Parts: sequence; structure tokens; C-alpha cells
Amino acid sequence: MAFSLPELPYAYQALEPVIDARTMEIHHSKHHAAYTNNLNAALEGNTAASGLDIEGILSNISTYSPAIRNNGGGFYNHNLFWTILSAGSNADSNLPVIQAIEAELGGMDSFKTSFSQAATTRFGSGWAWLSVDGQGKLFVSSTPNQDNPLMDVVDQKGTPILGLDVWEHAYYLNYQNRRPDYIQSFFTIINWSEVNRRYLAAKGA
Ligand code: MN
Repeated sequence: MAFSLPELPYAYQALEPVIDARTMEIHHSKHHAAYTNNLNAALEGNTAASGLDIEGILSNISTYSPAIRNNGGGFYNHNLFWTILSAGSNADSNLPVIQAIEAELGGMDSFKTSFSQAATTRFGSGWAWLSVDGQGKLFVSSTPNQDNPLMDVVDQKGTPILGLDVWEHAYYLNYQNRRPDYIQSFFTIINWSEVNRRYLAAKGA
């Protein structure tokens, strides 16, 4: 069994000027590739993980090595991240996830404020998330390093449907130390159709 690096669903330059082509190329072909290769190496000979998908491994991550936690998280998180980005945002008010943001999080502006807060205040490297909890409700959280809400080691567990990488490798070429600018720009390239698809899948699970 081996996990493989997915193709990007768009060209490296597709998200410019919000995310520049060079950042996308390094992020995908070097960072994400390394997480994938290192995960496969860490899983060699691990019979407990045999036959499990990545979600199955992450949900029980406390029983695995730090290398599997870090690289398994990195593999999964970037898989999700590429799919929820697109050139031009499409927050159609008819989408169930947009309606749920209105009903459960106080609306889009309130969501952006709390998500920005989670992303800005994550000290060092990590991620900000919008997830669905066990009762089907939305919540915003952040995790350090390559952890995510699927893992059995985090404070708030759930199914992530939107994530933002706030490691410096995700934005430093274009934004340097200005993480808040990167976060605000991110809101203009969210693929809400994909977030909605993940929302409905999480609610159905
Ligand atoms: Mn990254």
C-alpha cells in the first residue's frame, strides 16, 4: 500500500495574484511530495495501518509514530487544501453550507472574523479549519503543525471541510511576515462548491 501525490486540479499560476505560481510549485512538488513520500516510508512494515485509508489512520493517530502523525497530517491536509481553492470565490447563498454559516456561525462576516482570528493567532506553523462536528454543526478551530480535526489528539474533533495552511512556506514569498494579508486574500479564492460538497458528505456520514 502506498499513498500518492495528487495532481493539482489547476495550473500553478491559476490562483495568482493571491497565491503566486512559484509558491504553488514549491508547495505542491516539494512540500506536499515530501509529506507523501515520508508517510509511505514511515508506514513501511506497519501492519496496523495496512488496508486503512488516510482518514482511518488519522482517526487513531495517537497509536502511531510522530513521523506518521506529521506526514500523514501533511498528506491529508494538502489534499484537502488544493481542492478548496479556485480562481474567484463563489459563495452562492443557495448553497447549504452558506446557509449553515448564516444559521450557526452568525453569517459570513462573523465566520470570516472568527476564522481569521484562528488563523492569525495560531503561533508558529499550523492550520485554521471550518469543520462539521459529531452533531452536524459547524465550528471553527486551529491546530498546530500538521494536525487536523480528524485526529484523536485534538481538542475539537470533527470533519474538516475548509482549511487554510498558515505555515510560512504557504505564503512567505508573496506576503513575507504579513500573514493577516494572506488570510484576507484567501477568502477571495475559496471554492465554495467544493466546501459545500464536503459539508454535505460530512453531514451524511
Ligand atoms: Mn503546506
